[in-house]
Amino acid sequence: MNEAAEHPPAVTYKRVLLKISGEALMGDQGYGLHPPTVKRIAEEVKSVNDMGVEICMVIGGGNIFRGLQGAAQGMERATADYMGMLATVMNALAMQASLEALGVFTRVVSAIPMDQVCEPYIRRRAIRHLEKGRVVVFAAGTGNPYFTTDTAATLRANEMGCEAIFKGTKVDGVYDKDPKKFSDAKRYDTVSYDEVLQKHLGVMDASAIALARDNRLPIIVFSLDEPGGFRGILAGQGTYTRVHG
Ligand code: UDP
Repeated sequence: MNEAAEHPPAVTYKRVLLKISGEALMGDQGYGLHPPTVKRIAEEVKSVNDMGVEICMVIGGGNIFRGLQGAAQGMERATADYMGMLATVMNALAMQASLEALGVFTRVVSAIPMDQVCEPYIRRRAIRHLEKGRVVVFAAGTGNPYFTTDTAATLRANEMGCEAIFKGTKVDGVYDKDPKKFSDAKRYDTVSYDEVLQKHLGVMDASAIALARDNRLPIIVFSLDEPGGFRGILAGQGTYTRVHG
């Protein structure tokens, strides 16, 4: 056992939901899944799971298909959205395979029942999985077209009684303008839900922010590219923005 495992850092949260976009899994490719990137993120999740934190995950589908993209090509929006939801199931299965290869017990639960592939979403059963220390990956979004996986993440975080949503992005928080384009962009340490909505700060879509606000669910925006970043924040360190009331 290494030193870190013998002396796990103090944990500030007991149960959290990690939301990542589908694009986070595609690495430098323009499309699909990049297995080394999936593995890297799985290792981040494992390191937090090892601290005894209960972890829910929601993964988007944008690396494979987005409903709006299909609609722009003339497809009926609802049909295109169902395709987007199916894309999230593929990502969830990839993450499950990677986590289980690292020895982390994982369940994929889908808002659209597909019994041969994964479990259907049943709230109390999902809570039981968490209590047993399993990582639960929520697939197929909310199961409804016209929504996004950000809203699904907020919904599931509320249902599971998570203390916060961790939104992993390419930057270490919320900025007043794009830090990749503007060198004078300023990062917020904390920002209110209303400011995020009024200034269109692009943390999550408006319905997800409103649902988090109405249920006082904090959103922690942090960089997924920073090795050990997820674990660090749970141990009370690191740079991030906290969106709250
Ligand atoms: N989607 C949906 N309902 C949901 C969640 C997702 O219809 O509750 C569809 C929608 O078409 C969306 C796609 O699934 O474009 C992929 O999700 P999202 O765009 O949120 O993925 P991300 O941008 O996080 O990769």
